[in-house]
Amino acid sequence: MNHQTTDLTVLHLSIPTPSGDNPIYPVMLRDEDGITLVDTGMIGQFAGLESALEQEGVQLADVKRIILTHQDIDHIGNLGALLDAIPGLEVWAHADEVPYIKGEKPLIKFTAERRALLPAPVLAQANQLLSQLPEIEISRILEDGDMLPLQGGIQVIHTPGHTPGHICLYFRESQFLLAADALRVVDDELVGPAPPATPDMPEALRSLKRLIGLKLNKVLCYHGGEYTKEPAEHIAKLAESAD
Ligand SMILES: [Zn+2]
Repeated sequence: MNHQTTDLTVLHLSIPTPSGDNPIYPVMLRDEDGITLVDTGMIGQFAGLESALEQEGVQLADVKRIILTHQDIDHIGNLGALLDAIPGLEVWAHADEVPYIKGEKPLIKFTAERRALLPAPVLAQANQLLSQLPEIEISRILEDGDMLPLQGGIQVIHTPGHTPGHICLYFRESQFLLAADALRVVDDELVGPAPPATPDMPEALRSLKRLIGLKLNKVLCYHGGEYTKEPAEHIAKLAESAD
């Protein structure tokens, strides 16, 4: 019997900000049919993403699909560049996020106001990405409870609030939760999503209840990184503050 084990690599990228570098953690999965990336990094980070992959011995051409946890620009930032570079690249995203990713609805947080703050070269790349969105084909539309045939089974958990179609991914075999932006690690503590970036905070807290009962060794937050100190207990506690 062929037993599929988890083969997951956390990539380390960072967003330069006036107050210092802000690290983010996309993920690379190796499966028999190729490489899957979960999220793509911040806009303008394509070279950084490419070299992070190269350090793992992976070429862009090896990437078979992208799973997007949600529409925010620090997650879809290099999607256009990846689609340009990789023929046949698949894009998977939750149904409620698809209209934004395809440019049918404006990205909720990447407003004109926010774009105006970007340095000119990054703004040019942002405009390039926005112009590409309507051409994007979503290869697989994800729903809550889907079991993805990767890494021995990855469960899709719809966790709206941070955005309408935000998802977490639960890796059954390794009891690993990719929380994306549903949770953060701040000063070594597991905390809820960032209030300024979470338009529906009550919904985001209710979503944490969907994570209760998962057996967890480790949680990965896109902002803050890995967390291993009794994550299930901490998530249950955070979810208590939901209405
Ligand atoms: Zn984010």
